[in-house]
Amino acid sequence: MSLMNCSIHGEVGIHPYISKALGHELDIKSSLALTDIQRVKVNIYEDNQLLSNDFYLLANEVLSDIKHLVIRNEQDEEKFLKPLMPKFKGGGYCVKCFSMFLSKISA
Ligand SMILES: [Zn+2]
Repeated sequence: MSLMNCSIHGEVGIHPYISKALGHELDIKSSLALTDIQRVKVNIYEDNQLLSNDFYLLANEVLSDIKHLVIRNEQDEEKFLKPLMPKFKGGGYCVKCFSMFLSKISA
């Protein structure tokens, strides 16, 4: 896990699958609801082995019918994953801040 410098937590792990826009929303809005977060499940397979099973979190930026991406080869990656990647450029979020946010909204 890579590290970032959080103004609250100092040097801390970074949650990589939080889009830049969602990170911005988290920064400015304390009233963000769980429904404001779009979750896209991404499964990446290589030789039928599951390599990655992560949720990519966005601020309702992509078509809402995208809920689950299955990447099995380079063509899938080009077609499905590549278009999403620019949303995560400059993204990522402090893991502690994000878990604070989650505990706040689930309370
Ligand atoms: Zn933090």
